Amino acid sequence: MVKSSVLGYPRIGINREWKKVLEAFWAGKMEESEFHSQLQEIRLHHLRKQQDQGIDFIPVNDFSYYDQMLDTAAMFGIVPKRFNYEGGNVPIQVYYGIARGTKEAAASEMTKWFNTNYHYIVPELNGAEPVLTDNRPLLAYREAKEKLGIEGKPVIIGPLTFLKLSKGYKDTETDTWLDRLLPLYVQLLQELEKEGVQWVQIDEPILVTSLNAADVQRLKKIYETFAAAAPTLKIMLQTYFEAIDVDNYSDIVALPVAGIGLDLVHGLSGNISSIKAYGFPADKVLGAGVIDGRGIWRASLGDKLALLKELAEVASEERLIIQTSCSLLHVPVSTERETKLPSELKDALAFADEKLGELVLLTKAFSAGGSEIDNDLAECERALAALKHSNARNRRDVQEAVAIISSQKPERSNPFATRHIAQQQKWKLPLFPTTTIGSFPQSAEVRKARQLWRKGEWSQEQYASFIREQIDIWIKLQEDIELDVLVHGEFERTDMVEFFGEKLEGFAFTQNGWVQSYGSRCVKPPVIFGDVAFKGPMTVEETVYAQSQTARPVKGMLTGPITILNWSFVREDISREQVAYQLAYGLRQEVEALENAGIGMIQVDEPAVREGLPLKEAEHAHYLSWAVKAFRMTTCTVQDSTQIHTHMCYCEFHDMIDSIEAMDADVISIETSRSHGEMIHSFELNTYKLGIGLGVYDIHSPRVPSVEEMTDMIDRALHVLDPKLFWINPDCGLKTRGFEETAASLRNMVEATKLAREKYALSV
Ligand code: GLN
Ligand code: ZN
Repeated sequence: MVKSSVLGYPRIGINREWKKVLEAFWAGKMEESEFHSQLQEIRLHHLRKQQDQGIDFIPVNDFSYYDQMLDTAAMFGIVPKRFNYEGGNVPIQVYYGIARGTKEAAASEMTKWFNTNYHYIVPELNGAEPVLTDNRPLLAYREAKEKLGIEGKPVIIGPLTFLKLSKGYKDTETDTWLDRLLPLYVQLLQELEKEGVQWVQIDEPILVTSLNAADVQRLKKIYETFAAAAPTLKIMLQTYFEAIDVDNYSDIVALPVAGIGLDLVHGLSGNISSIKAYGFPADKVLGAGVIDGRGIWRASLGDKLALLKELAEVASEERLIIQTSCSLLHVPVSTERETKLPSELKDALAFADEKLGELVLLTKAFSAGGSEIDNDLAECERALAALKHSNARNRRDVQEAVAIISSQKPERSNPFATRHIAQQQKWKLPLFPTTTIGSFPQSAEVRKARQLWRKGEWSQEQYASFIREQIDIWIKLQEDIELDVLVHGEFERTDMVEFFGEKLEGFAFTQNGWVQSYGSRCVKPPVIFGDVAFKGPMTVEETVYAQSQTARPVKGMLTGPITILNWSFVREDISREQVAYQLAYGLRQEVEALENAGIGMIQVDEPAVREGLPLKEAEHAHYLSWAVKAFRMTTCTVQDSTQIHTHMCYCEFHDMIDSIEAMDADVISIETSRSHGEMIHSFELNTYKLGIGLGVYDIHSPRVPSVEEMTDMIDRALHVLDPKLFWINPDCGLKTRGFEETAASLRNMVEATKLAREKYALSV
């Protein structure tokens, strides 16, 4: 009978108990022994759930105390020198030191795991002398067997992926490092083999990116070494998040491993066309990743069965495993406790636990068919049809309007040069206008007020008047500091996506749909499940109030369509591009409402544009073109004299300046204080022709930057940018900062601006 397999299960727990245990331990509120025993309980509970459902291959060693890349580094004793580690098992304090920093030593860098919202700790190889400190996969295997009688499938991150995602070595040292790591992997695998482990899952998601010839050679070396060293151990070489590149497909499936795991959701068309063109080796098991490990939607089991039948023609039933497309780490735990969602939505969702059920059902349906599961299959199709035909997904008004505006060219009436003149006439801004990115400190008082209001203890009016007081305080302060373009401070918002999602139609909010973002930090993304529609003004009241308190311009503040898209769980029955255009249409109505209410500067934040870049480089251009189009659709209908701003942060932008320019925002503020050099360099190569502010100080630390430091940043930027188009601002929103440090930093920023105005006045 065909078997089912899970690639990894969420560690956070249905009540986020994992997070709570970690944080209690960090706060010194839990003894280490208690900490270990509680984590073990959580881990075993997760294994038991999979066992109870009847999953055949249950992953072990997918659980982590923080992150699986960090676990792998720690297992090999790879610890940055600054933590004074002396070999042996990495103590828990050192482990968390690397992740979170200590008083004496900075944390390692953290970055996104491929194109997901999960962040891993980047291993630092330099100076390390790797040894196998403890065989974690082996311990996890023993634990599952002894406690639950589970014949687990240890999961490890493969050598090529581990190396490629690490830093602290030069390209030319890759092979040296591979030679250092390989014997440790061999030792690990041999110990597993000796223990009687049958299958091990070696994750190599790097295989879906473009590999060069040297990497393909390395792969051969790695897997030939493993095959020779542990000949009876079955290796499932696991890929996910995309298809294997067609150019490498034949080489990869020919590697001497027992099975190849393919993502047949996110890499469906690529992988299937490679299988059709080049076949699948007769001696290997095909891990068919048909259940989406990252999406929250229930699968159409009928479609999946048809796909599996097709695959059974290349890999016979004994050589087919029905799997999740990737680890379930990226979806929430269970829909069971969602009591507030509309039923047509809830019934069409499948989080991790529901996906276990889907796997088992598919396995049964595939092998036996028969009437016992007919009801389940029919219920699945009924639920999917109900959502499809729901009113939420059939807003003719939205669909027709979006069809029309997306067929037009989204263009402002006049080019930037003309608009710039109109805007200068209207605003008469000084050289180097100063502004901020939008939010001001969300003090304990602000958070408290919101809680009281949400609980119903404060009336709407009480809350609104509290918000107005905060706006008053900050408008006065901004005037006192002499900023040129003011903001209202975003006190009424907790989260820049949630705030708009709650005010637009087509969104739903789960009670418990948490997923791990990094370490113990979890996020609960909104769900875009229907057609997005504008209900009424979302930001006009606070913005207009702020503007009424000052003669200086106040910028309206919106979150852009692509950021909302990329930070939500999104419906899959229409393309992401279409959803982006619907969002753009809704937000455009807000832009127009602001303009009609007399707001003449409007910022549409797009910090998450880059996060949506597809893994395959060949698809970048298409994505960027519709992302830019969605931004332009949002902003293009305003008058010449209305100034459109945007803001971007969180990552490198130097290789997408062309797309940024194509957004045609009158002014962009970009976070650069952490990658200033690269950014400046890219402006040497490309001239930027619109208004631009490069963040002149890093808001991620409470430190108050000096006037000199900021002067230095300004001077460097002005080497490559046109002074007439240059703005001065911090590099991101100030929400997480304190009052005093924010005021002091902004005063220094204005001081530095005044010096710059004197210095550059003549040259302009
Ligand atoms: N306007 C938002 C703020 O200032 C921008 C946040 C962001 O860039 N992530 O908070
Ligand atoms: Zn930002």
